[in-house]
Amino acid sequence: MTDLAHNLELVRERIVRAAARAGRDPASVTLIAVSKLFPAEAIREAHALGIRDFGENYIQEFESKAAALADLEGARFHFIGHLQSNKARRAAELFQVIQTIDTPKLARRLNEASKPLDAMVEVKLSPEESKTGVDQAAAAEVIEAVRACPYMWLAGLMTMPPWSDDPEESRPYFQKLREMAGRHGLAALSMGMSHDLEVAIEEGATHVRVGTALFGPRVRP
Ligand SMILES: *Cc1c(COP(=O)(O)O)cnc(C)c1O
Repeated sequence: MTDLAHNLELVRERIVRAAARAGRDPASVTLIAVSKLFPAEAIREAHALGIRDFGENYIQEFESKAAALADLEGARFHFIGHLQSNKARRAAELFQVIQTIDTPKLARRLNEASKPLDAMVEVKLSPEESKTGVDQAAAAEVIEAVRACPYMWLAGLMTMPPWSDDPEESRPYFQKLREMAGRHGLAALSMGMSHDLEVAIEEGATHVRVGTALFGPRVRP
């Protein structure tokens, strides 16, 4: 068995156990394999193991991989990095899902590509300056802007809590995202990564974004 196959088995077991604890169907949790900084071959191997959802952070990096992956059947690519409006059109062409919409302007730019897209609004739930996403207070405006875009279907909300070694530290953020989604009638919750996916699933995550636990540590360029 390859490392990836073994890692995937472990991650799937974690998802199943967490779902069982929460009384949820594990099939209600979509595993997104975060493949940033890993080559196209890693995505191809993951696809052969049954993964269909992939997360990428950088337009330029994915551009060079996408050409090599055009034949992958049923693959869905989620953009999960920070997206500048001037790259929106290209992002719309390359991805099926954009999870990091954080301004009305970005929503409109994506819509201008005239390509049907699934969308999520990224919410910033901590005051940390470095985090991307829209402030809670301004989230409603972004949600309405996406809903007004005919080419976009708003699935739900995405967040990334401040980093902590202790996954329990993420719980209040996940709870807050779930409450917000409920208030806005949104079903999808993209939350939870390698270190805190169990807590996210307990708090209702429908999409977990897992990189390191599948592909191993990333080497910074
Ligand atoms: C890189 C990244 C992940 C994956 O993080 P891991 O800790 O490697 O699982 C998830 N979400 C976002 C937004 C990321 O940038």
